Amino acid sequence: MDNIYHTKSCWRCDKLQPETNFLKRYSHLRNERLHICNDCISEEAKVLGESKAEIIGIYTNLQVQFKHRINRGMYRRFWEKALYNSTAQDLRQIS
Ligand SMILES: [Zn+2]
Repeated sequence: MDNIYHTKSCWRCDKLQPETNFLKRYSHLRNERLHICNDCISEEAKVLGESKAEIIGIYTNLQVQFKHRINRGMYRRFWEKALYNSTAQDLRQIS
C-alpha cells in the first residue's frame, strides 16, 4: 500500500524530484538511494569525461565509506573551482 509520490532532493543541485531519479544501489546501499540525481551524474560524466558507471561508482563509494559523516558539502561541483583557478593543471583540457 503505497500511493505516495516520494520525492527526494539532490545534494548537488538541491532540486526536489521524484525518488526514481536517484539510483538505488542494492548491493552496496541496501535500500538507500544515491544522494545525487541522475541529471547531475550525467553532467559530471560530461564535464570530467568519465563514464556514468565510473561516476556512479564514486558516489556509491562515498556514501558507503562516509555513511555516518556524509554531508552536502561533499557534493559540490568541485571542478568549478579548478576550472577557474589558474594553478589547476589537471582539468585544463576540458572544453
Ligand atoms: Zn541533481
